[in-house]
Amino acid sequence: GDLHASDFDDLADLGHGNGGAVKKVIHRPTGRIMARKTLFIDRTAGNVLEAEAERLKKQVVLELQILHQCHSPYIVTFYGAFVHQGEIFICMEHMDLGSLDHLYRKLGHIEEPALGKITVDVLEGLIYLYLQHRIVHRDVKPNNILVNTAGEVKLCDFGVSGEAINSLVKTFVGTSQYMSPERILGLEYSVTADVWALGISLMELAMGRFPFPPEAEDVSKLSVVDMLQFIVNEDIPPLSTDHFTPPFVDFVSACLIKDARKRPTPSQLNQHKFVEFSRVNHFDMAEWGQKVKFRLGK
Ligand code: ATP
Ligand code: MG
Repeated sequence: GDLHASDFDDLADLGHGNGGAVKKVIHRPTGRIMARKTLFIDRTAGNVLEAEAERLKKQVVLELQILHQCHSPYIVTFYGAFVHQGEIFICMEHMDLGSLDHLYRKLGHIEEPALGKITVDVLEGLIYLYLQHRIVHRDVKPNNILVNTAGEVKLCDFGVSGEAINSLVKTFVGTSQYMSPERILGLEYSVTADVWALGISLMELAMGRFPFPPEAEDVSKLSVVDMLQFIVNEDIPPLSTDHFTPPFVDFVSACLIKDARKRPTPSQLNQHKFVEFSRVNHFDMAEWGQKVKFRLGK
């Protein structure tokens, strides 16, 4: 059924980013716990008149309806979107362990066997989005990879493109440190840009910090332009085989091939030995989730 603003009770704040703020809510008519995101509207966008802005917001909700067609165990389920008091709300499946950025900061870093399971699931999600819907995610990063205590790993916040969304919503326009060289350079990009972002994300989760530049003590002191220049011009130092298995090190290096035409696609990476090992390994992510839940006192 349709979702209405008055049918929700707020339970907790889950976090906020550049694109919006997310709350844990209960949808009273169904009793279902959901994560509800309020999109930050770009109020500076093209001097849009009030009436026009209202029309555009309704159009955004229509463009988001494509999400109702995304059904995959590797994609956070979409429950619906609506406009209320000038704001756009998106309701989705609540993932009780939250995003990998929060988790790795609390845990220090994430162990390679868990990263194997995460890699397998993220690749499945990217392959599903691209093969079934021709969607390039465009915002792969630890913040947008969610985990629950059932041991499921799912992608959220992928780039649904539409005229209204592009004109009104800030989410996908910002530069980010997970952007591939070809995106930074303003060239055409495809699903291999998601592969780059997966590589950077895996390095960050494995090392417990953003991976470069290697010598910088404090990445936050580096200007955005310096960072983007580094990504375009410098080689990303590979993970050390002192701490990680050669297949994992090789997988991450394959993701971080600078030339987009030489970088593998998600389907190609699905055959990589790290992925094959990880599938055979059957890492118990549900047990891991229970341990993490206990450690975080959730
Ligand atoms: P950015 O806006 O820069 O992309 P972000 O992804 O962290 O960063 P949001 O998408 O607004 O920003 O999400 C804020 C936080 O809310 C996330 O980091 C995550 O921890 C939490 N969150 C988002 N969606 C869910 C969900 N479906 N279930 C549980 N927690 C969620
Ligand atoms: Mg997000």
